[in-house]
Amino acid sequence: MGSKKLNIWDMVGAHPICRSCGSRQVLRTTEAEWSMATQSWQIKTLCDKFTCDNCGDRAVPDWQFDEAFRQKRIRRLNDLLRHGQAEKASIMLTPGVREEGETFVRTALNRVAQFDAFSADNDPHGEHDFGSFEIDGKKLFFKIDYFDLELERHSDDAANPALTHRVLTIMLASEY
Ligand SMILES: [Zn+2]
Repeated sequence: MGSKKLNIWDMVGAHPICRSCGSRQVLRTTEAEWSMATQSWQIKTLCDKFTCDNCGDRAVPDWQFDEAFRQKRIRRLNDLLRHGQAEKASIMLTPGVREEGETFVRTALNRVAQFDAFSADNDPHGEHDFGSFEIDGKKLFFKIDYFDLELERHSDDAANPALTHRVLTIMLASEY
């Protein structure tokens, strides 16, 4: 039913670190076999043996997230959505926005696409997932939420577009 929890190493931005020295340079032992097609050795088996290339420790590594890497990926996916280029995504207009009419809606969509007034205040996580602007003296918000592909619950990994359906909602501030 798709509700299996992800392993940390399946998530965007995860990487192994040495438990002794914290280095990212963890090597994993593999077995390779010769491929005539590519004229090179191809990894056939991943072995459960690890070596830190920095300190030589052989313990099984820990896993960590590179938060800056995740943030950048999420920001890029959100920008694509605002620009109408996201693949798994929906745009929701609240009743208050729709009641303002077609021209207003078109202007609102353009304003969201062009919005670039992100700051530490409205975008503390640097993900470009929220903003506010005005049209004809009316204040509007947009926000982006992350769901699974069935739109039943939150995405397991908002940084992975294959696992995430993004929803961009445009609303009047008075409807918030
Ligand atoms: Zn080490």
